[in-house]
Amino acid sequence: MEISVVVPLYNEEESIPELFQWIEKVMKEHDFTYEVIFVDDGSTDNSWKIIEGLSQKSDNVKGIKFRRNYGKSPALYHGFLKAQGDVVITMDADLQDSPDEIPELYRMITQDGYDLVSGWKQKRYDPLSKTIPTKLFNATARKVSGIKNLHDFNCGLKAYKKEVVKHIEVYGEMHRYIPYLAKNAGFKKIGEKVVHHQARKYGKTKFGLDRFVNGYLDLITLWFLSKFGVKPMHFFGLLGSLMFLLGLISVIIVGASKLYALHHGLPYRLITDSPYLYLSLTAMIIGTQLFLAGFIGELVVRNSAERNKYQIEKEIV
Ligand code: UDP
Ligand code: MG
Repeated sequence: MEISVVVPLYNEEESIPELFQWIEKVMKEHDFTYEVIFVDDGSTDNSWKIIEGLSQKSDNVKGIKFRRNYGKSPALYHGFLKAQGDVVITMDADLQDSPDEIPELYRMITQDGYDLVSGWKQKRYDPLSKTIPTKLFNATARKVSGIKNLHDFNCGLKAYKKEVVKHIEVYGEMHRYIPYLAKNAGFKKIGEKVVHHQARKYGKTKFGLDRFVNGYLDLITLWFLSKFGVKPMHFFGLLGSLMFLLGLISVIIVGASKLYALHHGLPYRLITDSPYLYLSLTAMIIGTQLFLAGFIGELVVRNSAERNKYQIEKEIV
């Protein structure tokens, strides 16, 4: 099979039939062998009924329905597990992404050799309250992830080589950073294609402004995981030791200067009157805590199933 289209959806009953018709038309025109995997993320409307209806009419329709709403990332995760096509394309269900982009995305993966191609909604049809924070979000994501050529990390329309989706694990709300996940898994050729974007035709957006707060926190998590995920001591241990040393040295200075003053008959005051004493003690306590956090982190890593999970690209036996 050449193409799997994975469509995560949550209460999108009005859009699904139109979306499928459109995908079907494009696939037929280009003679692709394909499947469309609808992942119903616990919809409470008629979405699943409609998917069942489509699957009766077409063999290319597959579906998964979650018992409750888990989120877009879990939906993508299950879609990826099920996908069998050589190229996997993800697309939102709300008709904001255009199926007409599929042939070119397929060509970029199979002929230009990209591992991942992300859509770029250069001209967006979304409210300003979304487009401005998005610019900031993408700039931060570019900086942190080191993927400098992407303008639109969170675009729902993306194409992947099959290996990529089988070797990354999208969870929580990490769908915003799939290119970063792919990069961390060792897939280097990540490209971008300007895609056509439309205003939402039916229903309403499922994400509020909290996406930017959560997205930012997730980015920090990912950065931390990719840098220190299996060696937390290198982060906490270093910080902790520095902090502790700083505290220790300043406590010694406070003590020594008191002794010096006593010895030379200079005026002196109680050590406990000096604010520096308290600052140093605090630094030593925080330093110890950070160090301990590192240690506990190491114990967690030692027990984690991930600790020896590597991506093997090729092997000679
Ligand atoms: N979605 C989902 N589960 C959720 C929220 C959203 O599967 O919990 C789907 C939604 O149905 C749509 C896609 O994810 O197909 C993108 O969502 P939306 O269009 O609301 O996001 P926006 O375009 O506003 O970024
Ligand atoms: Mg949308």
